[in-house]
Amino acid sequence: MDAIEGKVVMITGASSGIGEACARQLARRGARLVLGARREDRLAALAAELGDNVLWAATDVTQPAAVQSLAEAGRERFGRIDVLVNNAGIMPVSLIAQGCVDDWSGMIDVNIKGVLYGIHAVLGGMLAQGAGHVINISSVAGLTVGPGGAVYSGTKFAVRAISEGLRQECVGKVRVTSICPGLVASELTESITVPAFKARAQQLYEGAMSADAIADAVVYAISQPGHVAVNEIVVRPLSQSF
Ligand code: NDP
Repeated sequence: MDAIEGKVVMITGASSGIGEACARQLARRGARLVLGARREDRLAALAAELGDNVLWAATDVTQPAAVQSLAEAGRERFGRIDVLVNNAGIMPVSLIAQGCVDDWSGMIDVNIKGVLYGIHAVLGGMLAQGAGHVINISSVAGLTVGPGGAVYSGTKFAVRAISEGLRQECVGKVRVTSICPGLVASELTESITVPAFKARAQQLYEGAMSADAIADAVVYAISQPGHVAVNEIVVRPLSQSF
């Protein structure tokens, strides 16, 4: 039996890109899925395609009650949540001097607070059931900083710090994995509001890898024996230097 078969996996940001690729790969391996994002039409279409073992709900990760209610719906339907893929994120990069304060707030709300709300929504249940796995999607921007990426990188460094703190606090109880993708073809650059950065990103992303490369890493981390915790994975396209 595949180690993933029957596992209940909650994924935030499942309506496109990495979250959607994870949903597809995990469904193929027999996982039961709890999918959240804001775009209901996308989630409904994906769920219809993936079959019966999928629950979805419109979920804005900046709203703690919404994330809590997604997890509760998952527990009601499937009895437990085994794995959380904390994936929802935005990347409206800009120079600090450009003063895009709404973009800063958005990144902090989605990329940091959303990750914390996800953990909060599942951790009690995982501790009570004596097992669980939290997978946080950070970035190579969580390993290094470049001009324009200060705030985005700040949020992704924070994701790694939160992952490591959670790992230490839950040692022996809950597995924690942080995944740092390099360039992945997805809708992420659509969140960029500064035209010069959007144009630059479009160039950079010509060398991007498919979201399946990250879904493969998620599958790898979940598939390990219960006593093995894969704590950090970095995946870049071969051509990416930063
Ligand atoms: P996409 O833009 O394709 O996917 C982002 C997902 O996040 C969407 O499903 C979107 O759904 C969801 N999302 C955004 N805001 C919210 C919100 N407020 N509440 C709930 N869901 C939200 O990009 P990726 O798949 O690339 O991004 C996934 C993760 O991977 C992000 O955390 C990103 O930072 C990270 N990453 C991506 C890299 C890349 O090169 N693409 C590289 C490194 C890390 P909806 O709009 O329907 O709510």
